[in-house]
Amino acid sequence: MRLSRSLLPTLKETPAEAQIVSHRLMLRAGLVRQTTSGIYAWLPAGYRVLSNIARIVREEQDAAGAQELLMPTIQSADLWRESGRYDGYGKEMLRIQDRHERELLYGPTNEEMITDLFRQSVHSYRALPQTVYHIQWKFRDEVRPRFGVMRGREFLMKDAYSFDIDHEGAVISYRRMMLAYMRTFQRLGLRAIPMAADTGPIGGDLSHEFIILAPTGESQVFYDAAFETIDYTGDAFDIRSEADLARFYTLMTTPYAATDEKHDAALFEKLDPARRREGRGIEVGHIFYFGTKYSRPMNFTVTGADGRKLHPEMGSYGIGVSRLVGAVIEASHDEAGIIWPDAIAPFRAAILNLKPGDAACDGLCEQLYARLGTAALYDDREERAGVKFADADLLGHPWQIIVGPRGAAAGRVELKRRANGAREEISPDAALAKLLGA
Ligand code: ATP
Ligand code: MG
Repeated sequence: MRLSRSLLPTLKETPAEAQIVSHRLMLRAGLVRQTTSGIYAWLPAGYRVLSNIARIVREEQDAAGAQELLMPTIQSADLWRESGRYDGYGKEMLRIQDRHERELLYGPTNEEMITDLFRQSVHSYRALPQTVYHIQWKFRDEVRPRFGVMRGREFLMKDAYSFDIDHEGAVISYRRMMLAYMRTFQRLGLRAIPMAADTGPIGGDLSHEFIILAPTGESQVFYDAAFETIDYTGDAFDIRSEADLARFYTLMTTPYAATDEKHDAALFEKLDPARRREGRGIEVGHIFYFGTKYSRPMNFTVTGADGRKLHPEMGSYGIGVSRLVGAVIEASHDEAGIIWPDAIAPFRAAILNLKPGDAACDGLCEQLYARLGTAALYDDREERAGVKFADADLLGHPWQIIVGPRGAAAGRVELKRRANGAREEISPDAALAKLLGA
């Protein structure tokens, strides 16, 4: 993208309404704009980040054998009456009436709808287990929408649903999803810790929240440093192997980890002080095993191997895709702005033309831009160098290629790595090799 003709409205001033750093930076960097309380438009750079996160989430869901589908945002109230949740869900649910006075709602989650879809088509134990997921907008009329996209009213969630014929199978589906989550968060450059959690309105009896550490997190968390050294993305665990999943699950549930709600100070004190970790955390994912909580009231049965009808055992698994954009920024920024992890940056590099109109600068920048294509944001604006440096740091591109008149005349550019500030003067080809190779 050429910055001179991009909808990338950066702000110099800190917006007064933003209380936390990610919200401030998302507004200042022109990633989002609030359209009404708790509802955001994703501008081009922000939408790229959101899409990159969604892509990584999708790849790990696919690798775990989950099938992607897409369910609608609008649901019928009747389905929710079947499960008994319609009245109980309360004011967080946005209830809508159509012109025929039929009761609809904007989905806050999809357990009922997916149970209905399975009940229509799956009738035998032979068709199970199955896990499906979608990445879709949700609406929850939060009492206090705040912190920008971290607690919005409309937000993007990946929600997955598993169906198994028995408890043993459901536990394996649950563990598999837990590993997929740990891999997802690691690829996003985040250290997440699974913590035993209350099940809330989703219900059920086994549940973990995935918490990432950030000083502005909403809950206090306590955990064992053992979590800090595990690599989930390597060969250590085969996601198709039940034995590996069992070993992985033991590793996730043995060391101490708890949010303030479930914290057991006495148990935590028993831990070697060198391994005790305490901080604030942000919930970025939540998984539930709830057995037949929906299949039973909604009368979803399949024929078992012995010919008898049984209610499938279910789980559901959420990741806050839009919340993650804010959470990543909370975990990765400095005074100058965002520091995007390479995997999700909106642009791999910014090309800073320090003297538009100078033939050598323009020529070199155009060449670089042609080579990098959509991976680059080309700052071709008629602005002072200082403004360009500040905006590039604010936007947090992993790399900056700085092209000034003296360097350009000598066929040199300056390459800056945002994460550590390292700069070097090199040839344009060497710069390209470096940032495309890394
Ligand atoms: P919270 O405790 O933060 O209100 P929740 O427990 O109600 O969240 P879940 O039903 O577990 O949320 O939803 C799955 C994921 O969706 C959460 O882990 C979170 O990352 C995300 N999420 C939930 N509510 C919001 C929201 N209002 N804005 C943005 N993301 C959200
Ligand atoms: Mg939750």
